[in-house]
Order: sequence, then structure tokens, then C-alpha cells
Amino acid sequence: MSRDYDVIILGSGPAGFSCAMQSAKFDKKALIIESNEDYLGGTWINTGTVPSKALRETASNIYRYMAQFGDEEGRMPYERFQMRDVLKYKDRVIANQNSEIKDNLIKNEVDTALGFGQLIDPHTVEVTREDGSKKTFTGDYILISTGATSVKPEEFEIDHVKVLDNRSILDIHYIPKRLVIVGTNIQAMEFATIFSALGTRVSILNREDDYLAFLDSEIKAEFEKILAESRINIFNRTRVLQVGPNPLRNCTEVKFKDKDTGELHVIETELVLSFGDRKPNSSQIGLDNLGLKTDKNGFIQVDNDYRTEVPSVYAAGDVIGYPGLASVSFSQGRTASCHMFGVSQLDSDSGIPYGIYSIPEIASIGLTEEEARQQFDDVTVGRAYYRNLTKANIAKNPRGMLKIVFETESLLLLGVHIVGDEACDLIHIGQAVISFKGSTRYFLDTVHNYPTYSEAYRVAAFNGINHVYKSGMNYNDILKE
Ligand SMILES: Cc1cc2nc3c(=O)[nH]c(=O)nc-3n(C[C@H](O)[C@H](O)[C@H](O)COP(=O)(O)OP(=O)(O)OC[C@H]3O[C@@H](n4cnc5c(N)ncnc54)[C@H](O)[C@@H]3O)c2cc1C
Repeated sequence: MSRDYDVIILGSGPAGFSCAMQSAKFDKKALIIESNEDYLGGTWINTGTVPSKALRETASNIYRYMAQFGDEEGRMPYERFQMRDVLKYKDRVIANQNSEIKDNLIKNEVDTALGFGQLIDPHTVEVTREDGSKKTFTGDYILISTGATSVKPEEFEIDHVKVLDNRSILDIHYIPKRLVIVGTNIQAMEFATIFSALGTRVSILNREDDYLAFLDSEIKAEFEKILAESRINIFNRTRVLQVGPNPLRNCTEVKFKDKDTGELHVIETELVLSFGDRKPNSSQIGLDNLGLKTDKNGFIQVDNDYRTEVPSVYAAGDVIGYPGLASVSFSQGRTASCHMFGVSQLDSDSGIPYGIYSIPEIASIGLTEEEARQQFDDVTVGRAYYRNLTKANIAKNPRGMLKIVFETESLLLLGVHIVGDEACDLIHIGQAVISFKGSTRYFLDTVHNYPTYSEAYRVAAFNGINHVYKSGMNYNDILKE
């Protein structure tokens, strides 16, 4: 039976976009349906990844400028730089990315239909446009890549003027002197350091005992030191009671309780920025029409090839849950397309790299030291501190460290963890070595450009080998191999 398309994709974020591009490369006819009638690209380009990274870029440049040149009159960055210039830059980046995605879809002959898509049966999608008109399309396969949205807090209203979320923070027209962030997910930490770099005094309220708990504990401790030096205060185990204006003091007040002591605290601030949990956009897209179930949080369940229980329907990206990253969504969309059209994907064993675009960045790949010690009998770590790297000294950015984790006997590289400038790029050197089951020797034997941050790998490898040597193991034999 002939259908309109080989694949119909709901949502134009990274999962949908990469599925469309991959399918086009297989000479398949693809249609992307997007409910945002103004912009393609989803959270990725319009409200999440790209705008926050564009803001980060300017904040990081300002931070570096202030570190290198200072201010003779002792002004803070917010007294010297204008938010409107920061936003202008961000808007230019978004506009560029928007036109890039459009060009790519046109070049690859991917069709687009604007409107809200709903599954009618395993091969049919109905699109409802803003004016209420409807149209149906049929396809051999369907990919659901509708993403996720932040859950609104129960304790207070987001008014988008004084109390903001990850969308409205992108449009503020001044740099606040004080900011309270509610939440401690990756994005919360990114925005905390972005505003701190602009001179804002930041406080973070955390509901839980801990945050970024998946990090190697030494890297986390180093990051905490950086937060403390930046005068970013974190209050753990808190419950926000109320957020509202205090007209007498011309500020916004955040009242919260310490969960352990029951003590009541009040912080006065200019702005509040809230990061709630992410809820999948799965409730109104017609899953019931196909008998498709979700887990208790609404995430669509899929197998390793991103196929749902209905063989012609796949799902990828934030709508299937963890880890909720653009990087992973790209890969999932591509994998789904490969599986639909019977092309086997090359499987890489290197795992998922994590990147946190705080200032400075944090990145990791492979096993943390704690995990490695559980899985291997003998593990060694090597460390390099940014303060000892020429490149970091030239850039006047000496905060951070790179840590490698390897099996002592074989020198097999098991994990790399970095906090410091360019960590999110640097991590891919470690990823490549892990992916090829490489040894720490790689870093000893290869010449690294100088001065670079990647020199940290060599320094950490020597440091690790020294530890092994000091513990009494004769390394000459291994190094001779
Ligand atoms: C502030 C912030 C910063 C981030 N930074 C990073 C980062 O630095 N690195 C990183 O890897 N990840 C980052 N992320 C996460 C990343 O943005 C998401 O993981 C990624 O965008 C998810 O991609 P997706 O394709 O699943 O969905 P999305 O990008 O959310 O796109 C889904 C699209 O589907 C559309 N849609 C929804 N329902 C329908 C429907 N029924 N019919 C048609 N269209 C529909 C939506 O309008 C949207 O355009 C960040 C997220 C946020 C919020």
C-alpha cells in the first residue's frame, strides 16, 4: 500500500531533525510536523541548548575580560556591560541556527507541516493548525520526538517578570544584582555560573541533600570550591514556602524552610529563576488511539532501537526520558531511522559523555573513581590542575582539574573527569581512547601541542604513573611493552 511518506516525524528538535536527515540520506521521503508555527528546532534551538550556550559565551567572554584586564574604577560587570548587547548576540545566534535548520531541511528535501500532530492509527497522523483546519498524512513509519516541558512549581507562580523560567530568563533586559535559583539540575548550575560571571550575587535553593550527584566526587568537590570562590551560596534540603514582592523594600522575597531544623529563612532578591522537573509532551498526541502506554511519569517506553510496542512507531529524545540531552537525542533519532530502514548502526562502546556548560565547564566519560574501584581490583588515578598548565595561566583561568582513572596493571583507561575551561571539548580525547580500549600510555607517548589544555592529559598520565611507581610496582616492564 502506498503511503504519503516513508517516515512522519512529530517534532523538529534534535531527535526529529536527525531522524529526518538520516532518512533523507537513505533516499527516504520524510515529513516533519512541528506545532510551533514560528520556529523549527524545538527546545534545542529556541528555548534551551543554543540560547543558553549563546548567553554563556558572552558571559564567559566578559568573565575572561574582567579577569585579564579588571576595571580601574572597580566597577562590576553589570555596571560595565549591557544585557541588551548580550541578548542581541544570543538572538543573532538563534536566527542563524534557525535559518541553518531550514536550509538543511530544504537541501535534503524534507517536507515540513506546521501544526499540532496527533496519532490516529499506526500509520496516520492528523495535523491541526492554529486556525483549526486539519489535514492527515500517512507514513510507513512514525517517530514521536515531541520533547518535554518544565513542570510549574506548586509553591509559587512564574510571572515571567520577577519570577522566571528557562524561557523568560532569555529575555530579561538587565543584569540582576541578585538572583535566587530554585533547583539544582544541570541547567540551574549553568545559569548560576553565567550570572555570577556577570557579577550577579547568586543563591541556589536545593530541595534535596545533594546535587549533580552523578559526578566523580573529587570533581564535584573542585566545582564546589569554584562555586564558593564565586560567592554562589547553595542551601541544601530546603522547602520553598513563598515567593512574592516586598513593596516596602522594593525587592522580591523568597521564604524557605530548612527541612532539618524547620528554621525559616528569607532572601531578598531582584529576580527568581525556577527549574522544575521535565515532563514529557506525551499526553495529547493520540497514544491511546494506538494502545501505547507510558511509564508513570508519562515517558514513552521503547526498546534499544527506539521502537515502541507498535512496530511502525518509534520514539526518541526527551519524550522517552533520561538523559534529556540534545547530544543524545541526535543519536537516538539517527539510530531510529537506521533501524526503520534496515541499516545497521556502527555501535560504539565509549558511553555517553556528559557536558555541563557552567563557567568553567564540567565533563565526564566512563567510570568515576568510585565506580572503577567497585568494578576493578586495582585502580589508579592521575590528576592535572589547571593552575599548573601554561595555557590556563596565559588565559588567566587557573580554576579546575582533569582526572584520569585507569586500571593499574594494564593501564587501561576507564574514565576521564574534568572541571575547567573547554572541558566539554577536551573530554572527547578521553572518549576516543576509551572507545578504542586504549591505555594511559597514549598520553605519555604522543606529542601534544603546547600550550594547550589537552596537555592536562599528559600531566595527569605522568601523575598517575608516579602514583603507581610510589606504591612499589615496577613499571619499567610495563612501559617497555
Ligand atoms: C535551558 C536548557 C539548556 C540545555 N542545554 C543543553 C546542552 O547544553 N546540551 C545538551 O545536550 N542538551 C541541553 N538541553 C537539553 C536539550 O535541549 C533537550 O534534551 C533536547 O532539545 C531534546 O530534544 P527533542 O528532540 O527530544 O525535543 P525538543 O528539542 O524539545 O523538540 C520537541 C519539538 O516538538 C514539538 N512538538 C511537541 N508536541 C508536538 C506535536 N504534538 N506535534 C508537533 N510538534 C510537537 C515542540 O514544539 C518542539 O519544537 C538543554 C535544555 C534546556 C531547557
